[in-house]
Amino acid sequence: MDKHTDIIIIGGGIIGGAIAYYLSKVGFKVDVLERGELASGTSSKCDGNILAIDKEPGFDSQMSLASQKLVQSLSKELALPFEYRAPGSILVCETEEEMLAAEKWVKDQQAAGLPFRMLDQSDLRQESASFADDLLGGVECVSDSTVNPYLLTYSLFEAAKSYGAQVHTHTEVKNITRELNDFIVHTNNGRFRSQRVINAAGVWAPRIGEMLSIPIPIKPRKGHIIVAARQKQVGLRKVMEFGYLISKFGGKRKVDVETERYGVALVYEPTESQNFLIGSSRQFLGFETKVDMKVIRCMARRAVRFYPQMADMRFIRTYVGLRPYTEDHLPIISHVEEVPGFFVAAGHEGDGISLAAITGKLIEEMILGFKPSVPLEPLHYKRFKERMIR
Ligand SMILES: Cc1cc2nc3c(=O)[nH]c(=O)nc-3n(C[C@H](O)[C@H](O)[C@H](O)COP(=O)(O)OP(=O)(O)OC[C@H]3O[C@@H](n4cnc5c(N)ncnc54)[C@H](O)[C@@H]3O)c2cc1C
Repeated sequence: MDKHTDIIIIGGGIIGGAIAYYLSKVGFKVDVLERGELASGTSSKCDGNILAIDKEPGFDSQMSLASQKLVQSLSKELALPFEYRAPGSILVCETEEEMLAAEKWVKDQQAAGLPFRMLDQSDLRQESASFADDLLGGVECVSDSTVNPYLLTYSLFEAAKSYGAQVHTHTEVKNITRELNDFIVHTNNGRFRSQRVINAAGVWAPRIGEMLSIPIPIKPRKGHIIVAARQKQVGLRKVMEFGYLISKFGGKRKVDVETERYGVALVYEPTESQNFLIGSSRQFLGFETKVDMKVIRCMARRAVRFYPQMADMRFIRTYVGLRPYTEDHLPIISHVEEVPGFFVAAGHEGDGISLAAITGKLIEEMILGFKPSVPLEPLHYKRFKERMIR
């Protein structure tokens, strides 16, 4: 017999967790289908930054700011703590060219009302005695925060369950068919029936779309992380090189061939347990998830360029995650009009931890027919179709 429910969410990552939380909190009967364990996809193979500093000024950064505020509220609302801290973050510049680009970045962000400021060399000295002497300055965004993404995912699902959500792990969606206005979702654990289905399957969202003949233009963008052993911290908050923005948005950088080829740019993230994470790389290699030691060595060299004393530090492990990439770097958070009742909430690339809360809130507002917290147009599924037609 089919299991009837108000809303089916496919995917037990941070995006599925946030949607399950906001929808069950307002009274919907929600069933989450996850083929593995919760957070077994990208949401446990990433950093935990909730950032506005690396978002394009305008819609992108406003949406991040809205999400930062929601995460701050979640840190008080959710019963299970998720290592929330809000120390701000910085970008560091190594050339005059980057300093000039950083000044423009700060001006544009300030004009959009975000708490950005320029840092000079003496600010960097105060930030960390471990920085390389030749760094010229940087950018600070004081509202940026950080979480443990694995814990936040679990915390959202625990809260959703307390509002009645049913979470089915080891339940893989194999097919979706229609019966009148209902979706029948076929899994290895039986059939689920509902008038609304939300596809929150991250890099696997296109495979769910195919089941309803809906093309979803998301592809995996591989990223490596190095975890350092517990040791004296070289800095107390998140640091990225300005070149990270160029890497993220696909521009040309003045770096060696390997750094460019692997899309390596420094990301330093201290954790609550006194380890620190070093990132990251960006490559399009399909669904391949092997750790590549050439990339790891390149990332380590990059880290030592910014923090020379890291050359004497010990790393304990490495991992790889797949970012759900869209070509305009914005997620798809959208109803799909061709298939009434089918929603997509995927494609957050390197920002899914930052944008999970606002994604959950927007889906809640869409389903209730409320005014959205941010405009929905730039997130709509149809933007890709319109581009293809032009
Ligand atoms: C190296 C790296 C660093 C990152 N750092 C940051 C950061 O600092 N800040 C930030 O904001 N973001 C960061 N990200 C991005 C962030 O991790 C992702 O955007 C986010 O985790 C995506 O979450 P999701 O829930 O969409 O996907 P996932 O966590 O992958 O969840 C999708 C789930 O769907 C399930 N699924 C798939 N197919 C099916 C099926 N047929 N049936 C049932 N279940 C299915 C999968 O098992 C999976 O659990 C980083 C990513 C990487 C790789």
